[in-house]
Amino acid sequence: MRSSRADAKFLVSCLVAAAAILAAAQTPQPAANVLVVTMDGMRWQEVFGGLQSELLTKEAGGISEEAAATATRRFGAASPEERRQKLMPFFWSVIAKRGQIFGDPKHSSVARVTNGLWFSYPGYNEMLTGSPDPRIDSNDKRPNPNVTVLEWLNHRPSFTGRVAAFGSWEVLPFILNASRSGLPANGDGPPIAKPESERERAINEFAAELPPYWGETRFDAPTGLGALEYFRKHHPRVLYVMLGETDEWAHGRRYDLYLDAAERNDRFIRRLWETAQSMPQYANRTALVLATDHGRGDTAEDWTDHGRKVPAAERIWMAVMGPGVLPLGLRADVTVTQSQIAATIAALVGEDYRGAQPNAAPPLDLGR
Ligand SMILES: [Zn+2]
Repeated sequence: MRSSRADAKFLVSCLVAAAAILAAAQTPQPAANVLVVTMDGMRWQEVFGGLQSELLTKEAGGISEEAAATATRRFGAASPEERRQKLMPFFWSVIAKRGQIFGDPKHSSVARVTNGLWFSYPGYNEMLTGSPDPRIDSNDKRPNPNVTVLEWLNHRPSFTGRVAAFGSWEVLPFILNASRSGLPANGDGPPIAKPESERERAINEFAAELPPYWGETRFDAPTGLGALEYFRKHHPRVLYVMLGETDEWAHGRRYDLYLDAAERNDRFIRRLWETAQSMPQYANRTALVLATDHGRGDTAEDWTDHGRKVPAAERIWMAVMGPGVLPLGLRADVTVTQSQIAATIAALVGEDYRGAQPNAAPPLDLGR
């Protein structure tokens, strides 16, 4: 028989264990993995409002009446809510319900770039390092002097060799300083570095057969296919995919193809997410971050453009979903900056980026 003193001791240890379990239940576990996808120069106007009918003309959107009719059939609807749902169905049916979305001016939600330059390299640098850097003032292929959150994570013990990036822009390896960081960072050429399977060889063949339409940016299809194949085969804990077509079609004043690219990007993001949910290492243990490098002009004339002469390009959007992110949907009455994305990526997987990079902006407050 146990003494009453032993019983009391046993009871206390039971209570301590129960309290620990309760505390663990209340502190959400961070995600084990994080997927980051950016859509280059994707405007908040379409993210939150879908198709903008004033751009469906030859002059503003560079499209024929026939193309305008097709775009209206695919993406047209009476309300902005219906239009955005048609343009980005995964974003609005899944992320808006289970995650958080920042930057909708209608809800006093401000998301902005802080580098003051409003073009790509300074934007990606701000987003991935956590602070703007005036030295990054061109899109030239110069190795980034700064350490990105991807490089930093790759030096964390349980992430080493498990961080990778795929992009549609040949500057990506320079932004990540691939020669220093050692990160696999594919931004042009064959998407699969060492093809072994029939499918991997087919992806590289397909990529090689596409026209080099923009030169430094390739179509998003080979980028996405390469990233998905890498994801399935190598199981990175951190995967970054930099999509590029939205920016290029917009510069080319092809509003119909800009919308088409946005819809295909949304489909890719769904595919990436669903692929993650189909693998035990990722299912319910993976966070998703979506963002853009800059906004664009707000008028029928300058919606195609961004950069120093287009201050409207300061306004952006971003979205996050995954373990520890409360399902608050469209965030209202809040101001966030592009520089917060770096620490957010780290925080989602339980890492403190600011501890190492005190200049970095704090992670987004996601109600964790
Ligand atoms: Zn651009």
